[in-house]
Amino acid sequence: MLYTSTRGIKGLVTSACVIQKGLAPDGGLYVPVHIPTLSRDEILEMCDLPYSTRALRILSYFLTDFNDSELYSALVNAYNQKKFKDETTPLSIINNRLGILELWHGPTCAFKDLALQLLPQLMTLSAKKLGDERKTVILVATSGDTGKAALEGFKDVAGTEIIVFYPNDGVSDIQKLQMQTAEGNNVKVFGIDGNFDDAQRGVKEIFGDAEFAKELNDKGFVLSSANSINWGRLVPQIVYYFSAYCDLVKKGTIKIGEKINFVVPTGNFGNILAGYYALKMGLPINKLICASNSNNVLTDFLKNGKYDKKREFYHTMSPSMDILVSSNLERLLYYMTDSNAEKVNGYMEDLNADSEYKINEKEVAELKKIFYGAWADDEKTKERIQLMYMVNNYIIDPHTAVALSALNDYRANNQNDNHFTVVLSTASAFKFSKDVLKALDKNYSGDDSSVAAMQKLADKIGGKTPNRLKNVTEKPVLHSEVIKFDDMRQKIKDFLFTEQ
Ligand SMILES: *Cc1c(COP(=O)(O)O)cnc(C)c1O
Repeated sequence: MLYTSTRGIKGLVTSACVIQKGLAPDGGLYVPVHIPTLSRDEILEMCDLPYSTRALRILSYFLTDFNDSELYSALVNAYNQKKFKDETTPLSIINNRLGILELWHGPTCAFKDLALQLLPQLMTLSAKKLGDERKTVILVATSGDTGKAALEGFKDVAGTEIIVFYPNDGVSDIQKLQMQTAEGNNVKVFGIDGNFDDAQRGVKEIFGDAEFAKELNDKGFVLSSANSINWGRLVPQIVYYFSAYCDLVKKGTIKIGEKINFVVPTGNFGNILAGYYALKMGLPINKLICASNSNNVLTDFLKNGKYDKKREFYHTMSPSMDILVSSNLERLLYYMTDSNAEKVNGYMEDLNADSEYKINEKEVAELKKIFYGAWADDEKTKERIQLMYMVNNYIIDPHTAVALSALNDYRANNQNDNHFTVVLSTASAFKFSKDVLKALDKNYSGDDSSVAAMQKLADKIGGKTPNRLKNVTEKPVLHSEVIKFDDMRQKIKDFLFTEQ
């Protein structure tokens, strides 16, 4: 399989190259030159396989630089029982029309683990295939979940170093502790004196600094990114759409070939785009429902085809979806324009110059055949958390609640649609204990420490606080340094050049 850029740069590249580079040199995103399709029988065959083998089937279509045994050992490393539950992505059947796909049973209780447990291995394999002996240095600016999931994924992976910058006054207590206690010989974490934008701007500037790149190169290092625009992060996410479908067939909930809907709590459009690839690969999907919070730029886009980022930015109780520019949407535009890179280029230029672009009628019609957009504010989010608990005795986190609210909107407007629907659940409720407690009990003050709040939530539902979250308060803090924006380069060099 070869890859091209959404902005049409000449020449095709291999999967190893795509994974190592992340972003195409023309600023576009890499897409496969064709999308393989699976027959009904091939999907049926997958139903009897465990998760890692289902994943192997999907990955081997796209990552053709690696042989099956390389891919399989990477997959078993990523999705073994020490790291995930027996079923990597368990599916809870809530009623005869609704299932919830729990994507948060990985090491950091975030759905990002599914991609970030695999990406580091794909990166080292890629470097090997390309004969690149430099060490890959992953730089991450994080507002929370990505940082910890990346630290956990890259920890002690040979040939890599990972450095994470978080805004000192911009992450939750638990998230900060998760990062400060990160273990591993190739791991470094810094707080940045500032907010998320400062951290992100700093990392972006470093990526664009040719002189710095040369300095690193001379010492045998090359910078790379674990951001969700990397194809190596997207392709593992296609797997759980197929896997959920297979589980439904196995349980007898649906018949093979029957179409289902998926609802996806969306930020950067990576997760739902993986669902779109699954559909193009032949998975029987009726609708992909794109759920947003008050930062509802995608809901508007899916209604009228106008992407307009000039709007107020809201801090919501579903922070991983607080985003106004969804980078992965560029890949969808590429498909909606029949692979017209020139058009995609134009839209992206408009977005840069005017902070908006508008696709044409035909493209909007194409979009609407597949996608439906809906959004929920914090009030509606809380209502869903409460409703789900009262009616189904099932606890959801705010991101999942946004998705359930969007489904409610969809059903109200599409009463003839009786397809079984799977909601993707992207975080453990315990990561957002205070907000969940507030949703369940209007009188809850929220004055507790994060650990006390987790315990209260556990008591309320008669369960236990996940050890993986509780542990962080007992582990030693290994990274407490808070640095100035201007010192980022020096700190990177200090870590890389003096370590061994
Ligand atoms: C990252 C994240 C999302 C958004 O996923 P995208 O792929 O960026 O659309 C949703 N929920 C949670 C909990 C996340 O961490």
